[in-house]
Amino acid sequence: MKMKINKEFIEKIPKTDLHLHLDGSLRLSTLIDLARENGVKLPAYDEKGLQRLVFKNKYASLTEYLKGFLYTTAVLQKESALERVGYELAQDNQNEGVRYIEVRFAPQLHQNARMSCIDVLAALNRGLDRAKVEFNSRAQVKSGAEPPFEYGIIACAMRMFDYGFSEYFDNLLKVHAYSERKWIFSLASQELVRAAVEARMTLTLPIVGFDLAGAEAGYPAGDHAQAYALAHKHFLKKTVHAGEAYGPESIFQAITDLHADRIGHAVYLFDADMIKSPEIKDKKAYIANLVQFIADRRITIEVCLTSNLQTNPAIHSLAEHSFKHMRKAKLSATFCTDNRTVSQTTVSAEILKAVQAFHITPKELKNFVIYGFKRSFFPGSYIKKREYVHQIIEYYEKIEKQFL
Ligand SMILES: [Zn+2]
Repeated sequence: MKMKINKEFIEKIPKTDLHLHLDGSLRLSTLIDLARENGVKLPAYDEKGLQRLVFKNKYASLTEYLKGFLYTTAVLQKESALERVGYELAQDNQNEGVRYIEVRFAPQLHQNARMSCIDVLAALNRGLDRAKVEFNSRAQVKSGAEPPFEYGIIACAMRMFDYGFSEYFDNLLKVHAYSERKWIFSLASQELVRAAVEARMTLTLPIVGFDLAGAEAGYPAGDHAQAYALAHKHFLKKTVHAGEAYGPESIFQAITDLHADRIGHAVYLFDADMIKSPEIKDKKAYIANLVQFIADRRITIEVCLTSNLQTNPAIHSLAEHSFKHMRKAKLSATFCTDNRTVSQTTVSAEILKAVQAFHITPKELKNFVIYGFKRSFFPGSYIKKREYVHQIIEYYEKIEKQFL
């Protein structure tokens, strides 16, 4: 097929974003509005100023990258704010042709005396659902000419937390000794699973998955094995941030201890130098086996190119990004934004970057995009999911024909 992939084509095709943090993807204008409304101090009150000081194109370190989240979390401490950003996030995605999103966030960072974990989840869902209903009531969707917009919510547990993160975590830290911290982190994750399962059961919220976020080094995934076992038991799908700042062993743990269906980032999956355990003598064989296992099980990698470059200054250009090895090994991978605002990106921009940097063919692109839909934690039945994926493929092919 002689087809050229350009920006217009990428914007038109139906897309997914399976790795999308709510608190990293607020509109700057909304952040400013909400900060004014709630008396949260910002370093600037105009978009340009915020882009110069906080939400940059390039970051010197992960610490600098994470600075923006302090402000976004601070303004999201009310139900109305969560509902608003959920609504706007769905709209921003719809406007660039994204048809399916999985919005992830750590509800416990928003939990406070006025809002339980379930209230937090319900508030976000109200916003997302409102945008979905609006989009799907358009004639093009109703007639079946275009596929509908769908979404799920992923609850993130934190590998670690410290004072100042949120009221909920501050209270936990206050009543327990420092030596008990590891145990508190693990307990908080289990509490989150229970709340997520309850919200799904009693309010029928589309909580589709469980995730583990936060600093990897020093805070092993294994500490959260009980929470993941509980999620597993309740049929929640599982993804884990792993191999973002740490090596293949972190990914191994996510797959074996936490039963991960998908992995966030996995940037260092192929780096033998990052293997720390002295028990692993043949590092090359260890990686080959791990990659083989991931490929064979179709464990999907949520690839976030811009974000990876921003948080790992050692990776100088996309040409050095491990996506080239993932592609060669035929791993199931899908392009995601991670954080639309903090990374100043969109799904379309991520795909365009990937196409240009790795010379992805139209056939390959189609596979990567469809993997997103196929490997999503779709909230409906498997039959419904299959119907949806078929409708997406048909629509994708219709657009392909327009660009021949
Ligand atoms: Zn992430």
